[in-house]
Amino acid sequence: MNISPELFDMDPDMSDYTTFSHGLYIGGKWRPSSDGRVIEVIDPSTEAVIAAVPDATLADAAAAVEAAAEPATGWRETPPRRRSEILRRCFELMTERAETLAALISLENGKALRDARGEVAYAAEFFRWNAEEAVRISGEFGLAPSGANRIVVDYQPIGICVLITPWNFPAAMATRKIAPALAAGCTVILKPASETPLTAYALAALYEEAGVPPGVVNVITTSSPGPVTAAMLADARVRKLSFTGSTGVGRVLLAEAAKHVISCSMELGGNAPFIVFDDADLEAALDGAMIAKMRNAGEACTAANRLYVQAGIHDAFAEGLRKRMAALNVGPGTDSETECGPMITRKAVDKIDRLVQDAADRGAKILCGGAVPEGRGYYYPPTVLRDVPAEAAMAHEEIFGPVAPISRFEGEAEVIAKANDTEYGLAAYIYTRDLARGMRVASKIESGMIALNRGLMSDPAAPFGGVKQSGLGREGGQKHGIAEFMEAKYVAVTI
Ligand code: NAP
Repeated sequence: MNISPELFDMDPDMSDYTTFSHGLYIGGKWRPSSDGRVIEVIDPSTEAVIAAVPDATLADAAAAVEAAAEPATGWRETPPRRRSEILRRCFELMTERAETLAALISLENGKALRDARGEVAYAAEFFRWNAEEAVRISGEFGLAPSGANRIVVDYQPIGICVLITPWNFPAAMATRKIAPALAAGCTVILKPASETPLTAYALAALYEEAGVPPGVVNVITTSSPGPVTAAMLADARVRKLSFTGSTGVGRVLLAEAAKHVISCSMELGGNAPFIVFDDADLEAALDGAMIAKMRNAGEACTAANRLYVQAGIHDAFAEGLRKRMAALNVGPGTDSETECGPMITRKAVDKIDRLVQDAADRGAKILCGGAVPEGRGYYYPPTVLRDVPAEAAMAHEEIFGPVAPISRFEGEAEVIAKANDTEYGLAAYIYTRDLARGMRVASKIESGMIALNRGLMSDPAAPFGGVKQSGLGREGGQKHGIAEFMEAKYVAVTI
């Protein structure tokens, strides 16, 4: 197996990627797994095997922690300005190579190239933002209320961090953790999703080129994420677990981390309501719905999962959305004409289909799409349903696909109650021309993030995260993201 990261030397012709394989990236070296086993990577648009990556064992996990421990002191003592410059270089290299990275993301994840380009820009921005934050970490100094001493608070890197990321944003979910961790002075071990490991390895090679010292970032892939993660968390040198993924796996990891009292950040699932009031600008609401629903073909934690539309605008909105969804080009993500790529796996397609059929069985009307196409590739057509009842499974589970379920509502209190009728609380969207109502409803909706008259809220400069079972902690934002990777140290000083 070829285990060198030659991606950036290649002509960005898709056929080149089929021979592209990586090693585990541990201590700045590329190596196979200790038992030589590999995980196959599948192109979701053709179901063909496109690459193989090593399948890390417990011994490899131990080696990764060892490798992260080696430079830990040197990295935390590296001047913030130097760390900042390296992070800035990561941003520049990602920006220069945006097209190659986007093509790789499209290939292994299936998302449309335009979405992949957007992801690379978003992912790179975490390096620029945290390069700027790295030199602005400051402590506190004050007088104790008793007057007996001074209170000095210093913020220190938390220690070695285990980072676990999902397949839906293979670049951005990794950089949203790696950039603030490195800015804070921590070393990390990244375990990317098994479906999309190639982007994570390509980025590891890029970090090295940007000047990230060996061992500061380590990347391992494994088909045994439970035991491998448990082994890393059991090492007393590991002090942080930052996870992005499903709420179910998040619960398992919180229990595992509790055994060792490890600090946890959890970015988990969502069930975003998209609320359109009668007084909304219809065209703006439809534009916003297409972004909130169809970015990444619906495979986003912030995706609009339930569309509540007020009675007076309901029929016009439903027809407008049907027209727009039915007109989308479905195809391989790597095709520049594609607007909606395949889903990540056959299992994902089956789940989406189950949710659609369940809603139809309970009385929802399918306005377009709604059937799994024949042929190869994990495709599901853009689908709109109306009259979706509250008891439909899709009102409570993440659809994670190109399906827009519309329900009618009459009044403000009613829609707030409906929006909050979920264990999740990540994101919500509100469309109204009445700013006072928008702010009032925003304050009553139980979610970590609200987009008011917008279809997109993600921004490295804003705190991203959820309430309820959507997570713990925040990523990005002024100080929030870095704070997750630091501990406050208080010194009482008599002077
Ligand atoms: P997932 O099944 O929870 O997997 C996420 C990651 O956890 C993968 O790397 C996976 O590895 C790993 N994993 C699975 N079981 C594990 C275990 N027992 N111990 C340690 N690691 C384990 O989620 P997904 O299907 O990849 O991603 C979709 C979910 O992520 C959705 O629920 C979505 O809402 C959520 N998400 C949330 C945010 C946010 O910011 N809140 C952002 C993006 C996605 P393998 O791939 O090897 O199984």
